[in-house]
Amino acid sequence: MILALVEHDRDRLSALSLQTLTFGRRLAKEADDRLEAILIGDEGGRPLADGLAAYGVSTVHVVQHAGMDEYAPEAWAESMVQLLSAVSPQVVIAAGSERGHEVMAHVAARTELPLAANCTAAEPGDPFRVTRQRWGGSLLEEAHLVGSVKLLTIAPHAVQAEPSTGVGHVSVTPFIPTLADKDFRVRVTDRVEKTGGKGSLTEARVVVGGGRGVGSAEGFGALEELARLLGGIVGCSRAVTSAGWRPHSDQIGQTGVRIAPDLYIACGISGATQHIVGCKGAKHILVINTDAEAPILARADYAVIGDVRQVVPALVAEIRKAIEP
Ligand SMILES: Cc1cc2nc3c(=O)[nH]c(=O)nc-3n(C[C@H](O)[C@H](O)[C@H](O)COP(=O)(O)OP(=O)(O)OC[C@H]3O[C@@H](n4cnc5c(N)ncnc54)[C@H](O)[C@@H]3O)c2cc1C
Repeated sequence: MILALVEHDRDRLSALSLQTLTFGRRLAKEADDRLEAILIGDEGGRPLADGLAAYGVSTVHVVQHAGMDEYAPEAWAESMVQLLSAVSPQVVIAAGSERGHEVMAHVAARTELPLAANCTAAEPGDPFRVTRQRWGGSLLEEAHLVGSVKLLTIAPHAVQAEPSTGVGHVSVTPFIPTLADKDFRVRVTDRVEKTGGKGSLTEARVVVGGGRGVGSAEGFGALEELARLLGGIVGCSRAVTSAGWRPHSDQIGQTGVRIAPDLYIACGISGATQHIVGCKGAKHILVINTDAEAPILARADYAVIGDVRQVVPALVAEIRKAIEP
């Protein structure tokens, strides 16, 4: 059986987990096996379980425990370890998200099983072959994964989320783990609404990214306005997070978030390799930069060579004219 960890947040399944389920369904088909899922959360997981039938899941294990309504990596991992020993899957997969990686790393450490992170393909059998991204996606590695249970995370946007063609029935099985206080040492206790648009960078259709060329934290005000008008979200380069202008959660790149929007507007960003690995999934890139030789121009579908402090307000004004009566 292929077992997939499904992430959800306040009654919404994560887009990366739907990609992971699509990956898992194809893997299950190749292995002539079935796909089951784990949903973790106090009572919250149960209503979401029905939606998983559309992704080819036959059974959903809903892990229930007081205090699991919010993310707690060690408690999630310990629950998974206990579930693994109860249901004996061949393969366990999770999204290559921050949470997916964190939980699976704990699972691997607790079970002493090897974990292949950021896989783009897997071929069941002996040996069990995986292709995975290394160096932030700048090279692909083909490897054999050993271990009695194969642990994988799936690289973000390696596959598109696709519901299954057949309509299936899903059975829901509660699972009550035995957890101790120490499993809740790390947990989400509070949420702070971020500025720069609602939603997640990973799932946004439009991202307005700012780099050192934006000049200051205050300079991001115009980018936020542009993002708001386009229904998008603001992201940034590492130069910006290092300067303390934006939080690390806004960083796009190798050590930040991977995005795959329809449109990425890169403002005052040079296009270092470590930034490009985070935005190369964008369908279209519009660059705004004073330097016509900046490396990011090699990736641009459209470019405006000019000062971001003039171009972005001008864009905002034009969009306002077009959409506001
Ligand atoms: C291990 C490692 C991991 C890293 N991970 C990441 C990562 O995840 N994400 C990331 O982004 N970086 C990452 N970096 C850093 C990366 O190498 C670059 O240093 C960084 O991306 C540069 O950010 P930047 O493009 O904003 O700044 P710069 O490289 O300084 O570029 C600024 C750009 O703005 C333009 N500009 C200046 N003024 C204006 C203006 N007024 N109007 C318009 N354009 C203007 C300039 O022409 C230039 O192209 C990593 C580095 C390492 C070593």
